[in-house]
Amino acid sequence: MGNNIIVLGAGMVGVCCALELQRRGASVILVDRREPGSETSYGNAGVLARSSLIPFNHPGLWRQLPRLLRNDTAQFRYRPGFLLRNLGWGARFLLNARPAVYRETVAALDGLIRLSADAHQELMREAGIGRRLRDTGWIFLYRSAQAWEGGAAARRVYAEYGVPTQALAPPELAALEPSLAPRFERALWVQGSYSVDDPQAVVRAYAALFRQAGGAFRRMPVRGIRPDGAGGWTVVGAEASGSLSADRLVVALGPWSRALLRTAGLDVPLVCERGYHMHYAAQPGASLGRPVYDTGGGYVLSPMARGLRLTTGVQLDDCDAPPRPEQLGLAETQARRAFPLGDRLDDTPWMGRRPTLPDSRPMIGEAPRRPGLWLALGHQHIGFSTGPGTARLLAGLMSGQAGAHAALAHAFRPQRLLNG
Ligand SMILES: Cc1cc2nc3c(=O)[nH]c(=O)nc-3n(C[C@H](O)[C@H](O)[C@H](O)COP(=O)(O)OP(=O)(O)OC[C@H]3O[C@@H](n4cnc5c(N)ncnc54)[C@H](O)[C@@H]3O)c2cc1C
Repeated sequence: MGNNIIVLGAGMVGVCCALELQRRGASVILVDRREPGSETSYGNAGVLARSSLIPFNHPGLWRQLPRLLRNDTAQFRYRPGFLLRNLGWGARFLLNARPAVYRETVAALDGLIRLSADAHQELMREAGIGRRLRDTGWIFLYRSAQAWEGGAAARRVYAEYGVPTQALAPPELAALEPSLAPRFERALWVQGSYSVDDPQAVVRAYAALFRQAGGAFRRMPVRGIRPDGAGGWTVVGAEASGSLSADRLVVALGPWSRALLRTAGLDVPLVCERGYHMHYAAQPGASLGRPVYDTGGGYVLSPMARGLRLTTGVQLDDCDAPPRPEQLGLAETQARRAFPLGDRLDDTPWMGRRPTLPDSRPMIGEAPRRPGLWLALGHQHIGFSTGPGTARLLAGLMSGQAGAHAALAHAFRPQRLLNG
């Protein structure tokens, strides 16, 4: 098979795939309807953490269900009509929280996160943006001894996987983050983890590496894909933007992958876990040294170049249904009790979509019965951190050199959820 490749989607995942394939000798065109890093990979919390190996559908989820289904927290909201239409997906998601599947998922995500952490550091050094990377970890905040006890299973997983953590009593937390209100009984500092102060700038710096090495970027809204009749694939542009063909095609359209893959007859069971963000000023003298996750409040507050970025938990709804940012209001109320936030800095809340498959594992590999069509999608809550590792796995598979990563790649094979 030839070495001309089109990568669809210039979020963190697509940009990393384009760069890695280029470095392995392919001639790559990266395609997006917007500039690189303008969607989900722009608005996330910027956390790159070893602790993200635990998926949302962990065995404790069943116990949390009655609270989550009340539909009134910043951590989890849903539109009842969406849930009813997607009951089958929801059931699969819950079934994949059973211990045997969950343990496999944790091991797979840990492998992908570790592979990505090294690659991110190398890429940031090369791109000259090392200053954007903080190595101060992040902190989980607990409002009661009972809530802390609820995190015991996760702490056991961290210990098992060697994720470095330190439990903090209130005086230790105050010493580390003096601007936080003294309302947290306990906290867990996840160390050996990173965050960035501008996720979009990171994606754009990686895209610049790709372009500087001769990679082509094409702005084009894509309407569909189909085999080109000569063993390759054709990408059909919308709005009279023409078409492109290549020997091989990588679909890395994040939340929009499902709609596009339908045009090739594939139904990827991908759901959008929507979320919002808003930037705030800090009141005079207040600051944060690292992102914090208020486990009871259901939000993450991350220090960014633009200000303090407050991100919400999950909202289940159709990917492109109109925004319903009440969840941000709930998160803001909680966050103002924990930190001296000043004014809002954005005119409207940003909305993003975490692209999630029913087993919380991304899909990385060739589509069944469609030679030359490759998938890199479904990175749920951790696609910003796991883009580079995904690219290494995908490029290894595409060049027939999965080598040491073959077992890891197996956990992400599309065939587990797609039979053509
Ligand atoms: C609130 C929130 C907080 C998060 N926090 C974190 C975090 O702290 N750490 C972390 O690792 N992850 C986090 N995530 C998850 C992470 O942001 C995503 O998993 C990741 O950005 C997905 O990257 P992607 O490249 O797959 O998709 P995207 O970044 O969405 O890229 C997809 C691209 O496809 C393009 N596109 C779509 N349709 C078309 C079309 N028809 N034609 C042409 N182009 C098209 C879009 O323009 C876009 O650029 C968070 C997500 C949210 C919503």
